[in-house]
Parts: sequence; structure tokens; C-alpha cells
Amino acid sequence: MRPGSEMIRADADVLVVGGGPVGLAAAIEGRLAGLSVLVIEPRAGSVDKACGEGLMPGTVSALRNLGVGIQGAPFRGVRYVAPNGRTTATHHFSAGTGMGVRRTALHAALAQRAADVGVVRQSGRVVGLRPTGAPARLVVALDDGSAVEGGWVLGCDGLHSVVRRETGLARGSDGRRFGIRRHAALAPWSDVVEVHWSALGEAYVTPISATEVGIAVLGPRGWSFDEALGSFPALARRLADVAWTTSARGAGPLQQKVSSPVRGRVLLVGDAAGYVDALTGEGLRIGLACAQAAVRCVAAGRPLDYPYDWRSLTRDYRWLTSGLVTTTRVPLARRLLVPVAARLPRVFGAAVERLAR
Ligand SMILES: Cc1cc2nc3c(=O)[nH]c(=O)nc-3n(C[C@H](O)[C@H](O)[C@H](O)COP(=O)(O)OP(=O)(O)OC[C@H]3O[C@@H](n4cnc5c(N)ncnc54)[C@H](O)[C@@H]3O)c2cc1C
Repeated sequence: MRPGSEMIRADADVLVVGGGPVGLAAAIEGRLAGLSVLVIEPRAGSVDKACGEGLMPGTVSALRNLGVGIQGAPFRGVRYVAPNGRTTATHHFSAGTGMGVRRTALHAALAQRAADVGVVRQSGRVVGLRPTGAPARLVVALDDGSAVEGGWVLGCDGLHSVVRRETGLARGSDGRRFGIRRHAALAPWSDVVEVHWSALGEAYVTPISATEVGIAVLGPRGWSFDEALGSFPALARRLADVAWTTSARGAGPLQQKVSSPVRGRVLLVGDAAGYVDALTGEGLRIGLACAQAAVRCVAAGRPLDYPYDWRSLTRDYRWLTSGLVTTTRVPLARRLLVPVAARLPRVFGAAVERLAR
């Protein structure tokens, strides 16, 4: 907490720090619950971010429930592909379809819905938080020296959350894994998201439109996109002469630990509330579910219910993702993963179903 002598610029029931997809979803939830909401976000326009851009069926239905219209390319399941490009394990979702959606398009759709329901947007980067002295009031300090006041703060400011740091809830990162994404002008060759495995990392191929696919690679610190692609020979051959439509954009380190997702009247939501890895492609599904839970707790004046909700909503993701990341650090386990998944389709299918909704 920082001392402050700033001029207070605005006031709202809920201050949402970070206008990414989870912050905007939380803001919409807040307005639908009858609260006044101010979103503080430094970046103008449709915000981009390194992401695999695969919205699981649960994410698609959560967005629909929020009244957010999205457009992209549907996908019916997930396929793991071994380094030889031939051994595969495929699971088609038992219900619903996923959707590949460009991050900028997702952001624009959420921002439009937020504006329609009366969310106010404030441009700025949050640098600190402090109590006001008045009961149940907080002040958020911005980088231009101004400040805003509110009753609750939802920290939705992503992997490198300032709110998490300022509330003392951050517990660091192992710093091992990073992600990079690019887009290629290529008609999708599959109706599933492909996850290609190599000795060092994974590459996701997500259909985005009839003429574009997204490629996201996950792997060790310092990997360049081209170097990463070279470790997936079957995929690299397919992409050999392709026209790239975006440049490489990275994120990481992916793992971010927290001691708790709440302190006082500050609740952490989305990646800000801790992150395991992008390996199972469900950050958005969980972020949207936690946004709904956080607003429910705020509206009821019961912030201490949130850690329980957060634990239960993120349990499968935390266990399955950290289990998979840890196991596949062992080279033999990494080599055997796809063949074993192919031989145990029910186990593979059950895991995909758990993560999809
Ligand atoms: C390579 C990769 C692939 C992925 N693939 C998938 C996938 O296929 N499907 C899926 O569901 N998830 C995927 N994820 C995870 C997904 O991208 C995240 O879970 C999701 O973006 C989290 O949204 P968020 O709003 O919490 O954070 P972000 O999207 O990071 O948004 C945070 C916002 O906060 C703002 N901000 C930051 N600091 C401040 C500050 N100090 N003050 C104010 N605002 C601030 C930022 O500008 C940003 O707009 C992937 C992640 C990576 C890295």
C-alpha cells in the first residue's frame, strides 16, 4: 500500500483492474448484478495477447450467457499428435463445440457488451492500492498520479498482476515455461485443436477462420518461435511456405503462485489469481467462471466465500495441468504420452471432458 495525495477522479462500487477478457467479463457480471463498475486498462482499442485462442465449449456457453456474441471457427475436440506426426489420440466433445476466436475479436465483443451494459472504462495503469480511512473504501493509484476510489477491487490484471503484488498475495514462479503465438494464412486442415508434442514443448494449432490458423508454442525460456517450430517436423513441413499474418507475440513465465485469491476487499480473478500453465487450454473458461463467482461474493458482501469458490472452480485445472506439466518433464513420460493416450481413449476422453466444461 502506498501513501497518496492524488486527486480522486472517479468512484464506483467495483473497480476492475485490467480490461482483458476476464476483467471485462467481471465488469459485465457486476453491471448485471446492479453494481456500478469502472474498468481501468492502460491499452486502447482491441487488446491482443499471446494465446492459443481455443475457447472450450464451457467458455463458449459462458460468453453466450453474458450476452457476448463471438465469431470464429468451431472445433469439435482435441487431438494429441506425437513427434512422428503419425501417432495420434483424438477426443470429440460429447456435447457442445469449441470455437477458435482471435483475441482481438474476443476483446472487441466483450468491450462492446461491457459498454452496452454501462461499464465505464478508465485509461491508466494501476501502480498501487490503499485503504481510504473510510470504512469499506479503497483507493487505486494510477501511473499518471491520479486515483480512483471504490468499494471493491477485482484484480484482473493478468500473469504479472500488480494487484497481486501490492496485496502481498504473490508467491512467485518457477520461471520455466513460456508461450509464443503466430497466425498463418492457411485453411484449417482439421476440425479439432491439435496439440503437437516434441521433446521440449508443445505446439497448438487452432482453427481461427476459413482461411487462418493460430499456432501457439509452449516451452522453455529463450525458445524462439522458429526454433520451437523446428522441433515439430510434421507441423513445420505443413507450414513451410505459409504466409504469416501476425508476428510472434510471447507471454510468461506461465506459472504464477498465490497464497490466496482474496485479501480484505480485494479479489484476484483470472490469470492474476495464479496460473499453472497453458497446456490444457482453459484459462478463459476458468477465468470467466471465477469472474462470476467473485461478483456473486462481492454483491453478497461475502468476500471470504470466494477462496472456497475459486478452489472448487480451479481444482481440476490445477491438478490435471500441474500433473501433466510435471509428468512430462521426464523425457520417457513425454515420449510415451501420446501413444498411451491413443491406447486409453476413455481416459484421454475423460480428461478432455473435465477440462472442456
Ligand atoms: C501461449 C498461451 C496459449 C494459451 N491458450 C489458451 C487457449 O487456447 N484457451 C484458453 O482458454 N486460454 C489460453 N491461454 C490462457 C489465456 O490466454 C489466459 O488465461 C487469459 O488471457 C486470462 O485473461 P485475463 O483477463 O485474466 O488476463 P489478460 O488477458 O492477461 O488481461 C490482463 C489485462 O490487464 C491489463 N493490465 C496489466 N497490468 C495492469 C495494470 N497495472 N493496471 C491496469 N491494467 C493492467 C492488461 O493490459 C490486460 O488487458 C493461453 C495462454 C498462453 C500464454
